[in-house]
This record gives sequence, structure tokens and C-alpha cells, in this order.
Amino acid sequence: MPVVQFLLRAALPARRAAPPNLSSCAKVALPPLRFPRSDRLYASQPNLPIQNIRNLGIIAHIDAGKTTSTERMLFYAGHTSKIGDVDKGSTVTDYLPQERERGITIQSACIPLAWKDHLINLIDTPGHVDFTMEVERSIRVLDGAVVILDAVSGVEAQTETVWKQANRYQVPRIAFVNKMDREGANFVRSVRSMEKRLGGWGISLPVQWPVVMDESHSASGIGSGGPAFEGVIDLVSMERLDWSRDPTGRIVRREKLETGPGQKERLFDEATAARQKMVETLAELDDELMDLFLEADGDMSKISTGALHAALRRLTLAGKVVPVYCGASFRNIGVQTVMDGAIHYLPSPVDRPAPEGIIRKTGESVPVHHSDPSLCALAFKIIHDPKRGTMVFVRVYSGTLAARSVLKNVTRNEKERGSKLLQIYADDFEEIPECSAGNVCAILGLKVTKTGDTLCQSNDHRGLELHPIPVPPPVFVRSIEASSVSEEKALTEALEILQREDPSLHVSVDEGTGQTLISGMGELHLEILAERLKERKVSCEMGQVRINYRETIQDEHTETYLYDREVFGKKSKAQVSLRITPRQNPDDNVEHPGLLPIGDDDGNLVLAGVDASRVSGHGTEAGFPGLDDISAALYGGIQGALSRGPLLGFPITNARVEVTHVQLYTPELSTLPAIRAAAQKATQLAIKTLAPKLLEPIMNVKICVPAKLVGAVAKDVSGVRRGEIITLDGMDAQGDTDDFAYRIIEAKIPLNEMVGYSTALRGLTAGNGTFSMTLQGYGLMAADRARDVVEEVRGF
Ligand code: GDP
Ligand code: MG
Repeated sequence: MPVVQFLLRAALPARRAAPPNLSSCAKVALPPLRFPRSDRLYASQPNLPIQNIRNLGIIAHIDAGKTTSTERMLFYAGHTSKIGDVDKGSTVTDYLPQERERGITIQSACIPLAWKDHLINLIDTPGHVDFTMEVERSIRVLDGAVVILDAVSGVEAQTETVWKQANRYQVPRIAFVNKMDREGANFVRSVRSMEKRLGGWGISLPVQWPVVMDESHSASGIGSGGPAFEGVIDLVSMERLDWSRDPTGRIVRREKLETGPGQKERLFDEATAARQKMVETLAELDDELMDLFLEADGDMSKISTGALHAALRRLTLAGKVVPVYCGASFRNIGVQTVMDGAIHYLPSPVDRPAPEGIIRKTGESVPVHHSDPSLCALAFKIIHDPKRGTMVFVRVYSGTLAARSVLKNVTRNEKERGSKLLQIYADDFEEIPECSAGNVCAILGLKVTKTGDTLCQSNDHRGLELHPIPVPPPVFVRSIEASSVSEEKALTEALEILQREDPSLHVSVDEGTGQTLISGMGELHLEILAERLKERKVSCEMGQVRINYRETIQDEHTETYLYDREVFGKKSKAQVSLRITPRQNPDDNVEHPGLLPIGDDDGNLVLAGVDASRVSGHGTEAGFPGLDDISAALYGGIQGALSRGPLLGFPITNARVEVTHVQLYTPELSTLPAIRAAAQKATQLAIKTLAPKLLEPIMNVKICVPAKLVGAVAKDVSGVRRGEIITLDGMDAQGDTDDFAYRIIEAKIPLNEMVGYSTALRGLTAGNGTFSMTLQGYGLMAADRARDVVEEVRGF
């Protein structure tokens, strides 16, 4: 059966004809869509051409309407029989209780939907600042994105942050200016805010024009008092689209745009001008269209809609344009055209450059082509389901992943036995036999796989590894303790599970106090963690949320330590010499060819891989550990010392440690634990001698505020919060006189000054300000600040 039919048959009630293609005919109504949930399509359908898959993400600032729009998409595609409502906590994609309570998306949920012969794997991403890691790992596996903006605010702080993340992974995108029904909504201004504030990618190009009528002419009754948003004009076909026939917006009427008296004439003229601009822009960027444009000699009607579609697709894929749509999801206006846009202009997996894999042994980089028969898949998300156990979400880049196959985790060099494969419907699943290249699914039964790991067939000996997903260092820390001894095991287990699910959560034990510490990305992150523990009925107590400071060294030192102890009547002895220096260039990883350098999350570089020239005693006598094991023991010891600085017990950052010599004695004396202990002690002594200094996290903060409050907020940033303002409104101080309703302040601010900033900003802006922040780096503290922090942490 051809795939198209398969998809439609799977999605439609029996014997009903396929719905006509909306874009090709006018005035059509979709058949009523009612789908029993068991009638699902599954993505691994072998006949589904990979060209018809779209792995998409919806990215935006919080509250722009991602979840609301997603709910409509699910409804129009027939996955749900009624529209869920964010405000009532009944959406499909926000399914964790914390998400429903707060009305925000924490974990990105994944959902496939059939739309006009295509399969859209929709990955909803969270918008809150604390969950940038979630966004990062979603973007990594996306092929295209839909950027949603609020038509009143235009580009907001988080939109910029996420846009940059999408730039990093070169993700083609389209944009949807949502909430056009709100008072103060302005399409043109929103597009202009995209042009001004979102750099590094294509030109924002409207492909639609809003039908905004004066109140007196409003037929829809939407909006009270002001102008009414009634629908959109498709600038490619010059048709007017109207959703007012049906309250759920399923019926889309299309009719040729005609001019007429009064408002009709205004609309016609506006749309004609916008179309003219669109065609000219496309022709300027695309040679094929330029030829047609020149041939047409001013008569735009000679350029076919097909030619425009093709040029838009080429340019969107090339990152030269971002087609911009408009609508109001909440009013059920415009969502289907965005879905059409996604399949028309956004890439299928084959339209993306093949991701790079690294052959572990040789360091050689090779592209992973979707047509390569060998399996290569990336684990991008892990969820622990109380009934099904651990579910590992993977994107398959090449080959086919079959259920119940023996796999190899290339990253951890371990065998893994997968059990069932599941197609994912947010919090609900369907078992599938296999998952082919370009698709996304969940595997059950894996034991060791973590986010960012590469999986291949167990008999694949290439050792091909995809780039891992970067984990930002955690900047907040909090102690945690089981309420009673009997609860300890439950707590340890729960933490293990949560840590596997969320790579930006770190659990460690403070060697000094024996306290368990959890660290994460933000206050909300750790707060939600506490709630999730409670949900698992783990009874525990948590300390205050504190900032995870760092300690660093500024000079170099060479240290030799002879470990010589008797423990339980058994002697052990080993000597390690090492050199510790400030790490000059964090990007430089190949400082010492031949010695395996290992970087860590804290920006340290450890050169602990030793060859025979650096080990005395080895080889003269049989029975010593192998060089690889010695290197691992050295690395472990050094890491142990670096994880806890001598000043206040915070991790050491930006140090370079190189083992220069190891002295072994006899195989009985110089055991691996002895070598490890010698390395740890030598590192500790060296750091102590160098008297480390305190560093604090410095955040890059983007604050989005109503234009008239910029002054007050900026004053607070620089005056009260020790902030350094970098730009106002994404531009330098050239004095921009734009009339954006909102402006963006970008500043570098110590994290310490950002604690509780949500509340402070709410106060300063009467609830109309938002901000987003990412870790920029660590800055040395002034002496008096450092003294305060020491007092605060030590408590005296
Ligand atoms: P998310 O944070 O991006 O997922 O945003 P939500 O979908 O949760 O929406 C945030 C708020 O905006 C909710 O109260 C929605 O009801 C509201 N909203 C979403 N879309 C529209 C729209 O088109 N018009 C109006 N007026 N409100 C909307
Ligand atoms: Mg949401």
C-alpha cells in the first residue's frame, strides 16, 4: 500500500475518502475527524518515504502559545477528539502534574501526527530559563523548527536564546506570529522585531498578511472595541482564508482575494504590496526565481505559485529566509497553514547535512548518511516510567532499529539489550516492531545508556560515535538528606533515576561533611526536583538553594607525593609527581599529543594518560597493573581532588593537571587504590599551596520589558545588581528610535544578584517583564565579596 494511503487509512474512519488537499482547492471542509486512539500510525512503517518525515520542534518564549498551538495541531491531525486547554490543565503534551499546575512545559514531549501524506514528529520544548538543557537536546535531534511569537510583544528574551541555539545546530525554521487577536497585536512590528533582534539566520519574510478589520465590520465578534482579527491572506496564492465557519476552526474557507470598496480595498492594496516585496526578496536570493522574475517583466501573475513554493523551500532549507505566518491559536485561526508550511518548507531528514560521527580509535570524522544500512542512533532523552521502567528516546540517523535487539552503546563501550520499541504519544505509547532512519522512538530495557550516547548494532566494530550533547555546568546547589535511615535507600534510588532522566542534575557527596548535594540549573529546577521526589513518596529534607561557586588557581606548582600507608595490616605504596597550571585556553584540548587529555564539566583539563616513559618500575617485574588501568586510577584521584577545593569545598575550575611521573614499587605494594590515593593527595597539596581564589558564576541575562520601563530596569541592573550592560535592545548605543512595545536589555550579572529576580522584575514592571539567562562563565570575586561569601558558607 502506498504510504500516503497507509497514513490516511490509519488516521481516518473506515471507508471514508481521503480529505482533499486544502492548498489545491477552494472552499473545502475537512471531514469530521474522530479517531479512536487505537487507530494509530506508527513511524516505522517501512513504506513511509523518509522524505515525508518532518522532525519538528516548536520553540518560543514562555507563554507565546506553544502548548496551545500544539493542542490545535493534534486536534486537526485527528489525534485528539477535543481541544485541550492550557489554562484548565488538560493538554496532551504538558502531562507531568507540575506542568499542569504551573501551565508550563517542563519536559519536552514528543508526538507524531499525520498531516497531508506526511508524518510530523512534533517535539514540544519547554520555555523556562531553567530548562535550556531540555531545549538543547531537543534541538539537537530536530530537522526544522516552528518559532512562535506573541504578536503584542514580538521577539522576547527566551526567543533570542532559543534562536541562537537553533543557529548553532543550523535548524531551518518558519515563524508563527500568534495571538493576533490580542489588543495591541501588530504583525508588521513583530516581523520587524525579528529582523532587528534575531540574527545569524535568514531574512524574516511574511508569506501571509493578517485580515484585520475595524470593529464595525467585524463578522466574527472577536475582539471588543478595537480592530478585529478575522483571518489571513495567503500571499503566495493571494487567497483569503477564513476560519469563522466552525468554532473549532476545522473548516478553512479559501477564496480569491478581491478588491472592493473601503476596507476591502485597503486589505487588497496592503496584501499586493506585501506580495510584491516577498517576490522581489525571493528573486534577489534565488537565481531560478530571478530568471522567472525577469521573464515576467513586471507582471507578477506570470510567476506560478508552484515556482514561489519551490523558491521558498530552497531558501528556507538554505537558511536564507524564514517564512512568517500569523494567526491566533487560541481562537483556532491559522494553525493549519503553519502545518502546511512545515511540510512545504521545512526539511525532511534527507534535506539536512549528514551528522558527523567520530571513529573513537582514530579520531577520524565521517558523515552518517541516512542511507547507510548500519544502525546509528542518538539517545536524546530518558524518562523513568513507573510501569515500563526506563525509556530511552532515540533518533535513528542510519539503518533500522529493531525491537528486542542486542545493541552496543558506543559511548560507554558496553552491550545493551533492548526490549520493546515504542512510538511516543506524549505520555502514551504504542508498541512498534522497528524504527527506520530519520525517525524517533523510545526503547525499553536499556540499562546503562544516558542522554547523548550513541547506539549501534552489537556486531558493528567501527566504534562510530555521534557528538555528545553538551551539559551546562550546574550553578545552584542544595543539600539533601533522607528523613530517616530507613528512607536512605529509597532516596538514593530516586536520585539515581532522576539523574539518569536529567543530565543537568548532578548528585555528589561532600567528602568533608558527608552531605549529599544536588546541583542544577536554577532555583525552579531544584524546586521541581523536590516535588518530584515527594511524588515518589521519598521523605527527605532539603537545605537552602545556594550558588555553586568555584575555586581556581592562578599560579603553577609541581608536587610529588609518596603514598605509604598500612591499612588493616596491608602495606601499600606509590609515588606520583604532577604539575598543575592555570588552564590558559579552555578550547585547546590537544595540548599534549600521545597523552589522552580529558576535559570535564568544570573546564579542567586532566592529562593522566601515561606511557611507559613516565612510569618507573613498570615492566621490570610482572604483576603490575596495565598502563590503561594506571591512567584511569590517576585520573580518578585527580578528579576527586578537583571536585572539592580546599577553600570552601567548591569545585576547582580552569586547572590543567599533568602527571609527569609515577614511581611503582612492587606489585603487592603499588596497587591501583594506592596509585589513585597518591594522585589525589598530590593534587590536593598542590592546590592548597597555590591558595585558590573564589569565583562566582556570571550570567548572560536578557531582560525583556515594556519600552517605557527600560530606564528603571537598566538602573536596577547596573546600580543594584553589579551588572554590566552590554546592549539595550540588541543594538549598541547608537540611539535606536523604534517603536517596539518591548525592549531587550542584555547584561552580564553575577548569579548571586539574580536570586529571586523573577519577583523583583515583576515588581519593577507590574508583571510585564520577563528574562532569560545562560551561564557566561566564572568571574573572580573582589576581596570583600569573597570574604562575605566565606562567612556566609562557613557560617562564621
Ligand atoms: P507556552 O508557554 O508557549 O506553551 O504558552 P501556552 O500555550 O501555555 O499559552 C500561554 C497563554 O496564552 C495561555 O493563557 C493561553 O490561553 C494564551 N494564548 C495562547 N494562544 C493565544 C492566542 O492566540 N490568543 C490569545 N489571546 N491568547 C492565547
Ligand atoms: Mg507550554
